[in-house]
Amino acid sequence: MTLTAHEKAFLMSSIRDIHDFPKPGIVFKDITTLLADKEAYAVLMKHLHERYASYNLTHIAGIDARGFIFGAALAQMLGVGFVPIRKKGKLPYTTVSEKYSLEYGVDEVEVHIDAFSNVENPRVLLIDDLIATGGTAYAAANLINKVGALCVEACFIMGLDFLNGHVKVSELVNVYTVIGVD
Ligand code: AMP
Repeated sequence: MTLTAHEKAFLMSSIRDIHDFPKPGIVFKDITTLLADKEAYAVLMKHLHERYASYNLTHIAGIDARGFIFGAALAQMLGVGFVPIRKKGKLPYTTVSEKYSLEYGVDEVEVHIDAFSNVENPRVLLIDDLIATGGTAYAAANLINKVGALCVEACFIMGLDFLNGHVKVSELVNVYTVIGVD
């Protein structure tokens, strides 16, 4: 259920730091190296599957774009639906939107107004690769609630704990971070 210190270190070592991307001063946590490593990807997905098997979820909501990769895979493992939360202008049907500020800019996320309406009492896990300031996830959790679903937890593969994003998002929903970075 919980990852061992060894497994956490293994996952951490599979994620690559890119300095000064997308602008000077940012250390970008590149999860493409985790995804390309079948053992690291499997350790992570097995852990998430075990954690969320008992949550009685109906959907996973993934944040554009790296949240889609983990969210869609986990939705299939759990046998639940997947809903994309997208950057503004990408979704074709009627949307609900929220503005937010991120570690390096300002943006807006949207979800289809009927995204969770294929079930009664939707129970949703929100997922993204990383939480920095928490602005994106806070907006996304708000969206889930706005369209009438219950966001039961927000899950991140990595957390930049020194930015305290988890404190902000915890105002709305329980936060789980697989690997915290001090
Ligand atoms: P925030 O809203 O500040 O929590 O930013 C989180 C969003 O921005 C997530 O979708 C991340 O994928 C992305 N992000 C922010 N900072 C980083 C970083 N240092 N490395 C990788 N992704 C980041």
